[in-house]
Amino acid sequence: MNDKLIIIKQKALEEHIPIIMDDTLEIIANYLKEIKPIRILEIGTAVGYSAICFSKYLAENGIIDTIERDEEKIIEAKKNIKEMNLEDVIHIYEGDAVEILPTINEKYDMVFIDAAKGKYPFFLKEALRLLNKGGIIFADNILYKGYVMSDYNKHKQRTAVRNLREYIKEVTENENLETEILEVGDGLAISKYK
Ligand code: SAH
Ligand code: MG
Repeated sequence: MNDKLIIIKQKALEEHIPIIMDDTLEIIANYLKEIKPIRILEIGTAVGYSAICFSKYLAENGIIDTIERDEEKIIEAKKNIKEMNLEDVIHIYEGDAVEILPTINEKYDMVFIDAAKGKYPFFLKEALRLLNKGGIIFADNILYKGYVMSDYNKHKQRTAVRNLREYIKEVTENENLETEILEVGDGLAISKYK
């Protein structure tokens, strides 16, 4: 890993920013090597760490659109993207993904869902509209510390858990998708659009 990227990662970890875990990244990277995406859509930029990591696997002239609503994170992400000389590759949509997604009319080869857990079913609906055939949707944190698969329902994250379960149900039942749920990291759903 590049020195500058190591520093970005270290700083994010120190600030408790929930960046993609190493084992999750490794799995996604293996898929990306195969599909060589031209366009990636990411929901939840934080400080740009995952987008910077994904950029390595883009096809030539490929680009990443990524959405973030937190102003301080946007500032930090822009700084990091500039530091890595990726300003022409990674484009940030600034604002709430719930409002921004319906305004996007591009097609993507990969969508990475990594934002508000309570919105995953909505993000899925939009991801399906924006995904090319043969493309893949990854949803991070899908098992949410094990809450999603347990029957303990009394914690305060009930809405998130309900929506993550709804996401899993929808991707599993959708006949156009081939889905795997992995226990890697905080849980990763991989849905291939057949
Ligand atoms: N993908 C990043 C980590 C993202 S953390 C990485 O692995 O490096 C989740 C981010 O999603 C946070 O920065 C949070 O501000 C953002 N977020 C959550 N809900 C959002 C929404 N509805 N619209 C836009 N951004 C959102
Ligand atoms: Mg995550």
